[in-house]
Amino acid sequence: MFNTLTAHELTEKLKSAEISKGDILTSLKKQIKKNEDKVKAFVDFKESGIIDNNNSGCLSSIPVVVKDNICVKGSLTTCASRILDGFKSPYDATVIKKLKASGAIILGRANMDEFAFGSSCENSAYFVTRNPWDLTRVPGGSSGGSAAAVASDETIFALGSDTGGSIRQPASFCSVVGLKPTYGRVSRYGLVAFASSLDQIGPLTKDVTDSAILLNVIAGYDEMDSTSLYVDVPDYTKSLTGDIKGITIGIPKEYFIEGISQDVKKATNEAIEVLRKKGAKIKEISLPHTEYAVSVYYIIATAEASSNLARFDGVKYGLRISQEDNKKLSLKETYFKTRGAGFGSEAKRRIILGTYVLSHGYYDAYYLRAQKVRTLIKKDFLDAFKEVDCIVTPTSPTAAFKIGEKIKDPLSMYLSDIFTISANLAGIPAISVPCGFTKDKLPIGLQFLSNILDEETLFRTAFSYEQSTDWHNIKPNLE
Ligand code: GLN
Repeated sequence: MFNTLTAHELTEKLKSAEISKGDILTSLKKQIKKNEDKVKAFVDFKESGIIDNNNSGCLSSIPVVVKDNICVKGSLTTCASRILDGFKSPYDATVIKKLKASGAIILGRANMDEFAFGSSCENSAYFVTRNPWDLTRVPGGSSGGSAAAVASDETIFALGSDTGGSIRQPASFCSVVGLKPTYGRVSRYGLVAFASSLDQIGPLTKDVTDSAILLNVIAGYDEMDSTSLYVDVPDYTKSLTGDIKGITIGIPKEYFIEGISQDVKKATNEAIEVLRKKGAKIKEISLPHTEYAVSVYYIIATAEASSNLARFDGVKYGLRISQEDNKKLSLKETYFKTRGAGFGSEAKRRIILGTYVLSHGYYDAYYLRAQKVRTLIKKDFLDAFKEVDCIVTPTSPTAAFKIGEKIKDPLSMYLSDIFTISANLAGIPAISVPCGFTKDKLPIGLQFLSNILDEETLFRTAFSYEQSTDWHNIKPNLE
């Protein structure tokens, strides 16, 4: 059915009048009706997707699902948190404006970990989204709803956000393509901030071509985001040549650590062989500060989160608890009660950690030191890109884990992003593409990383790999 196709395939069919604009929406609705009870990817689904028949943009009438932390005018935006209960956004995020202008239809909001804190979607205040490949397992996170919706063909593509791996890790767990663009490539205006120096919005799609098409639409300078980069956007589809002769790919020795599953190791090595056969030169490299990435990330990300979350105080947005037992609460009590009831336990853990590392007496020892090591991690990459065009690693050390398996052990949960976090610290782009399955038929993802603003090399290499393999065409069985 049409819902299983990609945006570029559907656009072709629309052009040749093989299908009508309404057909796509109809077949998606059918699929959602059939499978959404099992997968639970959506926190909100719009029955009446409005098709603008006059829009002939490049995504005309293609439905998209949006992570619940990206503002859509007039629609609830809750970051899967009770504290934003009932909050309706008064404006469109820049990416939403761009999607609408290109003709895309917003189908609904995707589930996520509360405020994007997590790697499994289990921190959502709504419910846990399930992995379409095995309903007893997590879809990854925090953009788990977006990835599960794409993998189960309940949407054509989705938007997610990535602060430490939240697009790439769920993409890898669900066997879809997930891209984190260069920091500043895509406007963050209208993305509810988690860690402002790390956050980027990016596409989750069924193949690399759709990823390039979507980045063409959402990338670019935005005067509403002072961190967006004032540089032209190339046509990324031009990089989809299939030819990687002359490209040098670096394999960082620090990424083949203890704790990485045998299946992941095997799939990654096989993928490297595919790339070699296609004409890429493979070279071992070193990123010596890799071992500090997770610690540095959890200092910087929590510091920024604690500051960003200060705005949710029961006065300006969503939930307000200003009364108890018929007694009016003071302003301070209102803050305390609202925040106490509104935030889930992971959000509270991060606020406490972040406040601690920023506090007087600990700032120098933790936050400042973490910033210095962040610079070294970035330098590792910039040095490496003097020798190689891109870097290939596994996306995650394991395939999807069981629901409940890590929720009581935050540290082991934090480690599931060990391979994705560095790209955010360095500000470089990275993409995850399907590269095989474990013995238990769980998807495995391969990560490509490239230099700042060099998404073209990412698309070129990832597309060439995708062309030589069939992983992205294999679908989960949801019967
Ligand atoms: N899992 C990481 C975290 O919990 C990354 C989340 C993200 O990228 N939003 O912070």
